Amino acid sequence: MSKLPSSPIYSSDVYLMACKQFDRAADAINLPETIRDRTKHPRRAVVLSLPIQRDDGTVQVFEGYRVQHNLSNGPAKGGVRFHPEVSLGEVAALAMWMSWKTALVGLPYGGAKGGVIVDPSRLSERELERLARRYMQELVPFVGPHVDVPAPDVGTNERMMGWMVDTWSNHRGRLEPAAVTGKPLALGGSQGRREATGAGVAYLVSRYLEDLGVPPSEATVAIQGFGNVGGEAARALARRGAKIVAISDHTGGYFNARGIDVEKALACVATTRDLRAFDGGDALSNEQLLTLECTVLIPAALERVITPEIAPRLRCRLLAEAANGPTTFAADRWLEENRPDLEIIPDVLCNAGGVIVSYFEWIQNLENYYWTRDEVLEKLFLQLERAREAVERQRSRYKFTRRLAAQTLGIQRVADAKMARGLYP
Ligand code: NAD
Repeated sequence: MSKLPSSPIYSSDVYLMACKQFDRAADAINLPETIRDRTKHPRRAVVLSLPIQRDDGTVQVFEGYRVQHNLSNGPAKGGVRFHPEVSLGEVAALAMWMSWKTALVGLPYGGAKGGVIVDPSRLSERELERLARRYMQELVPFVGPHVDVPAPDVGTNERMMGWMVDTWSNHRGRLEPAAVTGKPLALGGSQGRREATGAGVAYLVSRYLEDLGVPPSEATVAIQGFGNVGGEAARALARRGAKIVAISDHTGGYFNARGIDVEKALACVATTRDLRAFDGGDALSNEQLLTLECTVLIPAALERVITPEIAPRLRCRLLAEAANGPTTFAADRWLEENRPDLEIIPDVLCNAGGVIVSYFEWIQNLENYYWTRDEVLEKLFLQLERAREAVERQRSRYKFTRRLAAQTLGIQRVADAKMARGLYP
């Protein structure tokens, strides 16, 4: 166990969960005491007051955060979440997971995350623009291409990344596309970035289905969350021949034994912002979706949905964690002891496609030399495959679960960089 108690400022269930995972992984690899606290605790956190003018002329102040967990392996990297439940603890946990993820997949980055407490669906487009710009403006002294590079996450998108990069660039007096990733193509975004996380999830699901001897055409898939990640994972898996039998978003879920028409569902979200108007399946609750009998279950919404109550009722063969932190620590331990037949692709591996293509976007921006979509996807799958093989080697070498294998690899690489750098001064 590390000696420094977690700061009360991060206190939250999700931060506690990330800390428990760290302690377990650090014990499993006998991480030296001298490096534990430095590796575990966030390097720094910024709390922001964000005043914006609403369309009715009033001024409203929102609260935002940026947590930079690790800066030892390179610039910090991580998304920005706009959601009413955002807290400093949640952002810190997500930043910690980014550190293990970038290290696991071999990127020259640390880990960070940002968030604003806001329900974006309650703001007009102009109000959202003001908030995204204000968030970036307040962060100007703390981020940048070689310090910390934001990207989209829940509730933020390409468009907002465009406003953020414009804000940062205006402070510099010249376009600086490498300051933010997940941007529109017109501003130096990368081919393949929008679909990268979902395409990566689909690639890994296909690889693990191969190991199970199940051809994609015989696999049924249930997906919770139909935003950037869930929607693109559905599209990519359907293209690989799988049958998507259930989807959901925050407005409700749909089941169709013959297969959901994914393109129709995506068109519904593109025009009306959510699935409320979707008429291609029967209604089902989140709980029904998570416990559905299917080959692959993909949580692609928020954290901590697979709880100790849900875990014993899972009926999938493969759990692909597209969301960050979807399985609680206790549920994970239960699954480890009681469901050895269940294959889990842990979040730090499963959803790493997003940050890998963000890295490609950053390289293209720094070099001012742009790649085709095929080049991007080919390099993405290669990098994911290398990480997957490393996880499988670690797993069989130490008899770890796949999650422990992935986390220990990430944590060890972060600790190694810190040890190699030494303590300054
Ligand atoms: P998004 O905002 O595009 O979509 C989130 C989806 O989850 C929406 O469909 C929303 O309606 C749904 N949702 C929210 N609450 C729900 C609930 N209670 N029940 C069912 N659905 C609910 O966000 P995203 O970018 O797709 O991110 C989803 C997850 O993937 C998050 O955990 C995020 O951290 C993770 N992730 C995202 C990326 C990326 O590149 N965007 C990369 C890695 C990991």
